[in-house]
Amino acid sequence: YVCDLDGELLPLSQARVSVLDRGFLLGDGVYEALPVYGRRLFRFDDHMARLARNLDRLRIPASHDAAGWEVRVRRLVAAQPFDDQLIYLQVTRGVALREHAMLPGLTPTVFLMSTPLKPVPAEWRHHGAACVTAPDLRWSHGDIKSISLLGNVMARQVSVDAGAAETILLREGEPGGPWLTEGASSNVWIVQEGALLGPPPGPHVLPGIRVGLLRELCEEAGLAFNLRPICEADLRAADEVLLSSTGKEVLAVTRLDGEPVGHGALRGKPGPVYGRLYEAYQRAKAE
Ligand code: PLP
Repeated sequence: YVCDLDGELLPLSQARVSVLDRGFLLGDGVYEALPVYGRRLFRFDDHMARLARNLDRLRIPASHDAAGWEVRVRRLVAAQPFDDQLIYLQVTRGVALREHAMLPGLTPTVFLMSTPLKPVPAEWRHHGAACVTAPDLRWSHGDIKSISLLGNVMARQVSVDAGAAETILLREGEPGGPWLTEGASSNVWIVQEGALLGPPPGPHVLPGIRVGLLRELCEEAGLAFNLRPICEADLRAADEVLLSSTGKEVLAVTRLDGEPVGHGALRGKPGPVYGRLYEAYQRAKAE
């Protein structure tokens, strides 16, 4: 695979960064993961707006505006022999002797790589995925797409160990909770009385690019959409549970902690709201 390190296209196996890079020493950087379908960028401006917000918040100078990033991403996309790509874009503060303070004046290290975008497994598409829950023990800047992902790595491993597709996180401590936050690397949704509900934006939820997309797809499909706090009881009693992310697109969760999700004939099966959003998502990809 070809990658782009500080503006130079080179084979991924040959890319090298300094051991003093603050990404390596401190996890001091942010990233984006964006899908490319048939060499077409998807929701690119949304991804770049999130990147710009994150860089700004961390006082890391932006190397490009959205148009500049687009030139760079398109060049990488064109350099690959495959059409469906997952672009990983990372910006770290730069190279300096180890020091916690946000040292100003460093040149950020910018790294992009493209790998084949794996299709969502057919098994998940047809039968939904099994997930497990775990307490959300991560830090309180979950709205920043930080490369420091140890909390997410540990959360994900809970579902790996259980043979499940994703770990759904519940945050304890607030009255009325535990409250649904998100997945280890996805946003989580429930369906209640035909409406798609997700947790509101806040410090424990990444503003996923698919949040805005699902809002639009619901509007087009005439489905109610609402962001509001979701407690554990609502999650467990939901008619449907869904995940969304770059890699999972929109995915039905049909088992939660070993129990089938949903009610009646649809118990344990992907539901109708999932079905409509899946179709709408595929149409949006093809546009
Ligand atoms: N939440 C977390 C923690 C993530 O890592 C991701 C990334 O895929 C998401 C949510 C979903 O965001 P997006 O729709 O931008 O892929």
